[in-house]
Amino acid sequence: ANDEFDLAEFNEGDYAEAVATKNLAEQITMVLYPNDSSVNGKELRLRQQYFLSSASLQDLLARYVSQFGEDFSQFSEHNVLQLNDTHPSIAVPELMRLLLDKYSLSWDAAWAITSQSMAYTNHTLLPEALERWSVPMMKNMLPRIVEIIFEINARYLEHVAHHWPGDIQKLASMSIVEEGPEQHIRMAYLAIVASFSVNGVAGLHTQLLKQGLFNDFYQLWPDKFNNKTNGVTPRRWLAYCNPKLSALICRRLGDEWINDLSRLTALNAFSSDKQFVKEWAQIKFENKQALSTFVKQQCDVEFDPLMMFDVQVKRIHEYKRQLLNILHVIHLYRRILSGDTQNMVPRCVLIGGKAAPGYAMAKQIIKLANNVAHMVNSDPLVTPFLRMAFLPNYNVSAMEKICPGTDLSEQISTAGKEASGTGNMKFMMNGALTIGTLDGANIEMLEEVGDDNFFLFGLDANQVAQARINYQPQHIVEHSTALNGVMSMLKSGHFNLVEPGIFNDIIASIIDPNDQWMTAADFDSYCLAQEQVAKTYLDQDSWQKISIRNTAASGRFSSDNTIAGYRDEIWMKK
Ligand SMILES: *Cc1c(COP(=O)(O)O)cnc(C)c1O
Repeated sequence: ANDEFDLAEFNEGDYAEAVATKNLAEQITMVLYPNDSSVNGKELRLRQQYFLSSASLQDLLARYVSQFGEDFSQFSEHNVLQLNDTHPSIAVPELMRLLLDKYSLSWDAAWAITSQSMAYTNHTLLPEALERWSVPMMKNMLPRIVEIIFEINARYLEHVAHHWPGDIQKLASMSIVEEGPEQHIRMAYLAIVASFSVNGVAGLHTQLLKQGLFNDFYQLWPDKFNNKTNGVTPRRWLAYCNPKLSALICRRLGDEWINDLSRLTALNAFSSDKQFVKEWAQIKFENKQALSTFVKQQCDVEFDPLMMFDVQVKRIHEYKRQLLNILHVIHLYRRILSGDTQNMVPRCVLIGGKAAPGYAMAKQIIKLANNVAHMVNSDPLVTPFLRMAFLPNYNVSAMEKICPGTDLSEQISTAGKEASGTGNMKFMMNGALTIGTLDGANIEMLEEVGDDNFFLFGLDANQVAQARINYQPQHIVEHSTALNGVMSMLKSGHFNLVEPGIFNDIIASIIDPNDQWMTAADFDSYCLAQEQVAKTYLDQDSWQKISIRNTAASGRFSSDNTIAGYRDEIWMKK
């Protein structure tokens, strides 16, 4: 605050008024918006975005001016503003404002600098996640910024009109300003128009941006578009979080892998070394013991490290299909109750994650996971084969304990919906095997490790688009003995005996022809892949070999590679 404490107000006996300015200022950054893959067009969120973007730009300009003076001809050579999603995209008109109004540059000079300094990373294809700000609301808070956005738009639409002469529809669909009862600013479009680089975060994601969501922009500026597959840092996600495995790797390979993760491929040479495989398996077992202790503390559920640890931890969202996982648990539960346990591998299923506060369906999925876990864990005929826990407050510290102790990583999103995923990479680095769809970076993981070492299932992105045209989930249920049984049990109220009707929305969503996530479509294929998982797990030698191959193939997913890509192909390219 400009004025933290007003002594005069305090002396007059008004404490609240004395600290009002300070309170008002602190509200701006008190709570970060917890939305994920959905937006919430609240004023405070825009205030946060503007405050943080403007502060960063003012700091950057002050540093530049102290070195070069007010000659901005070198600015874009020395600076790139990598917009991490659209959250800071208000920096585009804010940089223009500062150059025009504070440093008195001409429009053309300011635009040349801005458009050669901005680069945009898109993180999602889900339309509900694309930020759009109401123009009246923005005008009220940031009138000059709105003026500048409209001027950017007018000049940009001239370029569009030149590229598609006479195409009025194109002007409307590509405009930064969305028309309607209330005008909205499409922040992703603003970011694309102002940026010299636009990137997606996995191969499929970038391809879908170019062919779908941003196709018009790709036609206009094909050279702006590029891919930077996400990565995770091997310092945190292997060396630090899994000290025992790191030590074993260091004993065989030395420690250079920590800064050059591609060296992990040398582990393949040890996948037939009996002593090495034994140590590898023993470390996984000890990490599972530690994870059981954590699950006991956090969820009060006993996980037996002799059972398979089947884990799905990530934000709760329908597209990530925690529901598909729960339906499979119910399927296993029914098999056990009916005595069909031959060759069944005993499993502990862990689902963990947070839901955005206003996302009702996600909250219901959490409730279902808890209720199914309760029924499973309280039947002593079931627990030798199956146990389940829901982990609340999933965060990075939890993941540091979870990924080293996981046997099976669940990456089961509807194909075409997960931009990249990074949880998938943390698990792979730590020797988990993946069951997953052809989505996000899973595709590149499969490419690296080979299909003998990955449990693939489900429709691919093209097949999802095709199947959507005439999707009849009720028909799928009727023709699948397994899914029919699971749906009947859900409908019978078996998991909500004292809470009638609470899962009706979930049940309805599965058989809804408009179910965007197509859970029913992939259920049988998922169960088959899970049977393949069980079969492989029964042969521990081959399981451990595949585990080693997964770690060995994870080098490409070091964030060191990703950052080198941003450096060489975006920041240094101009
Ligand atoms: C890695 C990580 C994520 C991302 O997980 P995905 O499975 O890629 O969605 C989310 N939250 C936490 C705490 C993580 O560590």
